[in-house]
Amino acid sequence: MTDLRNSKKLLILDDEEEIAKILGEIAVDCGFSVSLSHTAPDFLDKVDPSFDCVILDLMIPGMDGVDVIRFLSEKDVHPDVILISGADRRTLHSAETLAGEYGLHIAAVMEKPIRVSDIRNTLSAIAEKESDISSRTKTGGKGNSGPTFEKEEVLEGVRSDQFILFYQPKFDLKTGRVEGFEALVRWNHPKLGLVFPDSFLPLMEKETNILNLMTEKIIDLALDETRIWHTNGRKLRVAVNVSPVTLTELDFPERILSKIKNKGIPQSQFQMEITETGFLENIRFTQDILTRLRIRGIGLSIDDFGTGYSSLKQLHRFPFTELKIDKSFVMDSPRDRESLFICQASIDLGHKLGMNVVAEGIETAEVERLMKEAGCDVGQGYYYSRPIHPEKIPEILSKFG
Ligand code: C2E
Ligand code: CA
Ligand code: CA
Repeated sequence: MTDLRNSKKLLILDDEEEIAKILGEIAVDCGFSVSLSHTAPDFLDKVDPSFDCVILDLMIPGMDGVDVIRFLSEKDVHPDVILISGADRRTLHSAETLAGEYGLHIAAVMEKPIRVSDIRNTLSAIAEKESDISSRTKTGGKGNSGPTFEKEEVLEGVRSDQFILFYQPKFDLKTGRVEGFEALVRWNHPKLGLVFPDSFLPLMEKETNILNLMTEKIIDLALDETRIWHTNGRKLRVAVNVSPVTLTELDFPERILSKIKNKGIPQSQFQMEITETGFLENIRFTQDILTRLRIRGIGLSIDDFGTGYSSLKQLHRFPFTELKIDKSFVMDSPRDRESLFICQASIDLGHKLGMNVVAEGIETAEVERLMKEAGCDVGQGYYYSRPIHPEKIPEILSKFG
């Protein structure tokens, strides 16, 4: 018998009573204490923050699952959500995305008919998971989380060198060896500790003078670090993230090139990952700058490919040498066929255009295998390593070579 005092609470909404009952039995087996609802009003009445998990049928007479999702987020109830439905995968997928936007945590998405083994595995994983307070508080979409800052404070932080770089290895999927590192900025805040880019980049992109200053500084940091690798006999590449907002000063290429030359690093070992976050006002300037950087042999990567402004049009217009498939497609690839197709098509497209293709967001061996099978060149993600402090780089290199 399960000890109900310690068991997690699950609420099931499915108008098909037979299915709800079976799901309930499986859940009890996995150690949950279970409540059932067969109508949306009853569900809305029962649900409260004490539930650790809900199973939600998206198609309920009188109310659709999207209404329920919105209701949960408005009520500030944030359980692990398992979505089930007889709807097709694309519809399920867009419901899942929407739920994410509303700050809900989707543990799994399942098409009916549901396999007992699938639901059992998912429920057991949730039952065994440590209670995670943070996953049950509202985090909202990207950009709404974390602390907020005044521009004076950010500028002062940049001026006094509080912005540092963490490095995440990129792996050659054929050899399994490290081929380079991506530099990711962190604010080493005197009071708050490490602050992530989501909390300060949006402000910087509006205050371009701050962003320009930070970009110059982090490029210096990245080049200093690369120089250490090279003097230690490892000719690894470094990739820095550059927002196109910074690419408006026409002397940018010359400044970067002279920095690279001064450090004695071959141009080909320096790469810039370009993420577009908004409409480019001065596309001709950007094109001019990127073309000149490329002519001088600097690698250019189109980041987050397949989302936002990182589109076929940009791919066609600018001289990119590397394509990074957005991590959302990579992460979803094992359980969402369409995401896998998008990865495959991006890899083939990149190769046809003569580019190196990177899959970022590889968190499991299974995703690594799928990306290898699809012919992807480079992999990056928590499966290998999180972004790390530069002190830890030798450890990574001795582990993976
Ligand atoms: P990005 O360039 O797409 O970088 C990848 C982000 O995904 C990083 O978040 C990284 O920590 C995270 N990530 C890496 N592997 C995995 C994984 O397996 N699973 C998951 N869930 N996440 C993974 P981070 O460091 O918070 O950076 C966020 C974004 O901020 C970056 O996205 C980039 O667009 C921007 N950024 C970072 N550093 C700089 C910088 O120096 N300059 C500019 N302009 N933008 C930067
Ligand atoms: Ca990047
Ligand atoms: Ca990315």
